[in-house]
Amino acid sequence: MQKVTVLAGGVGGARFTRGLLHQLEHAHPSADVTVIVNTGDDLWLNGLRVCPDLDTVMYTLGGGINEEWGWGRAGESRRTSEEIAAYGRGWSWFTLGDLDLATHIVRTDLLRGGATLSQATAFLCERWQPGARLLPMSDQPVETHVRIGADADEHRAGDLVHFEEWWVRYRAHIPVTEFVQVGLGAATAAPGVLEAIGEADVVLLPPSNPVVSVGTILAVPGIRDALRSTAAPVVGVSPIIGGSAVRGMADECLRTIGVETSALGVGLHYGSRRSGGLLDGWLVDEADAASLPALAAAGIRSAAVPLWMRDVPSAAAIAREALTLVER
Ligand code: GDP
Ligand code: CA
Repeated sequence: MQKVTVLAGGVGGARFTRGLLHQLEHAHPSADVTVIVNTGDDLWLNGLRVCPDLDTVMYTLGGGINEEWGWGRAGESRRTSEEIAAYGRGWSWFTLGDLDLATHIVRTDLLRGGATLSQATAFLCERWQPGARLLPMSDQPVETHVRIGADADEHRAGDLVHFEEWWVRYRAHIPVTEFVQVGLGAATAAPGVLEAIGEADVVLLPPSNPVVSVGTILAVPGIRDALRSTAAPVVGVSPIIGGSAVRGMADECLRTIGVETSALGVGLHYGSRRSGGLLDGWLVDEADAASLPALAAAGIRSAAVPLWMRDVPSAAAIAREALTLVER
């Protein structure tokens, strides 16, 4: 096992990958990990390019994460955003902490100087030393929007609203009729992404949101095909335990695309590679052991193991099970 490639969103992807690195340190110390990160949540705020999932992964793996929130920096303060708010130019619903702002300022400076997002990410990672190669899914902006089904504040039913605004400001409580990836038509996979999938020894789908994290990465032209054609086994971990999303609001996302919120529903949504889907293996929680026969019938090798990521060792144990599932 030399090359491990992970497709990650924010908190779920970051915590899983941190466990994976811990596990590999013991079992496969020479393994290289590449994390292809969702950039569909990226947005401009106060003239700064904010990349929520890239930063969550970078801070988590680099030891700077606020453990309690799961995102943002430890020891954060808000003096700058309070000043911005005093000018009437703030975002009350989106936290821009002082320490975190430094990251966005440096990134934006690099982008304005002509760097690609891949180059800016590599530069930021020189400081954080995440222990894995972090690649944005694309260097072109692709921003997930939701089409809302009801009026909310200044928005009218039928409007497109940025996913982060719907998720963070409205806590996903406004009905949505569809997800739209703005910019997808002009996007290509970032340098190294298709190679990392094609040359991997194993590809892992962490328990990230299947719609707006993994789903968005898969929508970038070429990425789904690379997964289908790689010689590496593809193993996923269910983000749904006992019929509900462990943290966050994946339920609303799954309902919108017509997928049942269950470990089985998400597994079948990704589908078996044998029948044109993506998965060779799928881990479900012990609480969902009843779904194993249906998954086997669909041609997906599965196991039921504890899937709660309470800490690094429990996330490492999940990564070990994911690797074992295809090594068997
Ligand atoms: P986000 O971009 O910060 O929303 O993070 P991700 O998309 O990477 O992951 C979010 C998903 O992780 C949520 O929808 C949860 O279902 C899932 N999740 C969070 N914590 C856990 C956990 O401890 N175990 C499992 N199995 N899933 C989790
Ligand atoms: Ca996210």
